[in-house]
Amino acid sequence: MVGSVPVGGDAPVSVQSMTTTVTADINATLQQIAELTASGCQIVRVAVPSQDDADALPIIAKKSQIPVIADIHFQPKYVFAAIEAGCAAVRVNPGNIKKFDDKVGEIARAARDHGTPIRIGVNAGSLDPRLLQKYGKATPEALVESALWECSLFEEHDFRDIKISVKHNDPVVMVNAYRLLAQKCDYPLHLGVTEAGPAFQGTIKSAVAFGALLSEGIGDTIRVSLSAPPVEEVKVGAQILESLGLRERGLEIVSCPSCGRAQVDVYTLAEQVQAGLEGLTVPLRVAVMGCVVNGPGEAREADLGVASGNGKGQIFVKGEVIKTVPESQIVETLIEEALRIAEEMGVEIDLDDDAPGPQVTVG
Ligand code: SF4
Repeated sequence: MVGSVPVGGDAPVSVQSMTTTVTADINATLQQIAELTASGCQIVRVAVPSQDDADALPIIAKKSQIPVIADIHFQPKYVFAAIEAGCAAVRVNPGNIKKFDDKVGEIARAARDHGTPIRIGVNAGSLDPRLLQKYGKATPEALVESALWECSLFEEHDFRDIKISVKHNDPVVMVNAYRLLAQKCDYPLHLGVTEAGPAFQGTIKSAVAFGALLSEGIGDTIRVSLSAPPVEEVKVGAQILESLGLRERGLEIVSCPSCGRAQVDVYTLAEQVQAGLEGLTVPLRVAVMGCVVNGPGEAREADLGVASGNGKGQIFVKGEVIKTVPESQIVETLIEEALRIAEEMGVEIDLDDDAPGPQVTVG
C-alpha cells in the first residue's frame, strides 16, 4: 500500500506524477496536486531539497487528496521529517544516505514503526561510479545490480517494504533492466523512462516501454516523465493504462484517419467532438467516421457514432441509426446524444451556457 492506494501483487497499476512547484509553497503545491488528481493521478511525488520543503510536508500530506511520496536525496533528517509528517512513502536511496551519514538502520526502524514504504530509485544519470566503472555505462545489469545493492542496505535491517525503479532514457535498455529486475526480486516495481524528452517523443518512448513491460505483467506503478506540465504526464499515463485494458476506459473517440474517400473534414469533426466532451469521464466510445465504407460498421459498434457522406451524417446510438442530420449539425448532435447517454448512466451534467461551445461538468 502507498497510503490508501494498493500497490503490488494483484492491485491495479496506478499512475503517478511529480509536482513541479516549490514544495514549500504549500498553496501552489496543493493546487497542482488537485489538478493532477482531477486528471487521474493516483499517487504524487514532491521534491524535498530543503528544510522549508520538509516543514511543508505535514500540511501537504494531510490536505492532499492522493497519497504523497517525499522525494529525498542525501539528507536523512528530511527522511525522518517525511515519515513523521505522514507521507505515504519516501523515495530515498540508502546508498546516498550511507555515504554522508549512516542512518540507514534508523530510517528502516522509523519507516517500519510508521508503516511507511520506501522507494529505491536508480537512474542511469546518477548511477554509482563503482558500477559505471565495472560495466562501462548504465547497462541493464548495472542498473539492476545497483538497485539490489540499495535494497540490501535495508534488508540488513530486516526492512523489506520496498518498491524499486530502474530508469533509463533509452526504452530498450529500460525494458531489459526491468525484465532482469523482475527475474531477480519480488518487490513491486515503479516504471519510468527517465528524461524521456518533450511531450511527443516522451509519450511514444513511455508508451512503447510500458506497453512491453505491462503486457508481460511487469510493473505496479507508472510515471510518464515529460518536459511538459505534469497534468500531461498523467493524461498520457492514464491513456496508456486504458489502451492496455488495465484501467477502465473513459471517453474514447474512435475516428478514422481520413482518406481520399472522406466526405467531411474528419480531423476537425473529431477534434470538435473531443473538445465538446472534455471532462466527461464515463466509459463512452464515440465513432467519428469520414465516409460510408467503414463508417456504418464502426459507428454501429460504438456507443455512439456518425457515418458521414453527401453533406450529411447518419447518427448511430447503440448500433441503431437514430437520425440523419446535415453536416453542420453533426458535432452538436453527437454531443447532445453523448450527454444524454451519460445522464442515463447516472452522471449529472451541468451545461455552462456562457462557455464557447458545449461544456460538461461531471458531478
Ligand atoms: S472511414 Fe472512409 S474516409 Fe475514413 S479512412 Fe475509412 S474509407 Fe477513408
